[in-house]
Amino acid sequence: MRLILLGPPGAGKGTQAKILVEAYGIPQLSTGDILRAAIAARTPLGLEAKAIVDRGDLVSDVIVNGIVSERLDAEDCKPGFILDGFPRTIAQAEALDEMLDEKGVKLDAVVEIKADADELVRRVIQRAKESGGARADDNEDVLRKRLGVYQDQTAPLVAYYQSKGLLKTVDGMEPVERVTAAIQAAIAQ
Ligand code: AMP
Repeated sequence: MRLILLGPPGAGKGTQAKILVEAYGIPQLSTGDILRAAIAARTPLGLEAKAIVDRGDLVSDVIVNGIVSERLDAEDCKPGFILDGFPRTIAQAEALDEMLDEKGVKLDAVVEIKADADELVRRVIQRAKESGGARADDNEDVLRKRLGVYQDQTAPLVAYYQSKGLLKTVDGMEPVERVTAAIQAAIAQ
């Protein structure tokens, strides 16, 4: 199973990815998690990415494409993977197409998780409280920036994947279990 979870910050991509990892026995590839780990470890990548991530902008396509390309080569991705937070631009989607072509594999589905902007703000503020401020980008100002970036740069991927016949849309406002069920039903179609 090769899956992309698409959706704005707070839509539930990370939550659902972790559940699907258990259900399908394939890894979650979260570019956000990889970047945060690099920032925490102060690697050269982390030092370059920190200010960009903290202010809610996108890290360059070249950097994230490199991260994903390397990660997809790992043995645990052979049976499949769940991409969470990548691609985020049309250029990243095109780069991913090339990576998968080179490997001779195809995506099974792109699941768009939709949610209202007010609910996204509420959830991210809640996440910030629960994590004790672990993420510098989980505050209302940066979140609004990230939502704008999503609309401008990432939302065009909906049409991109729709035209390839891969897009499935689920309602991310439902309780977690119902969203999971909707995703599994959409994938099984
Ligand atoms: P996330 O955990 O997916 O919300 O990502 C957190 C932050 O990491 C984003 O706001 C970006 O700054 C950066 N990031 C994660 N994935 C990407 C990506 N595919 N392209 C560019 N920047 C990314």
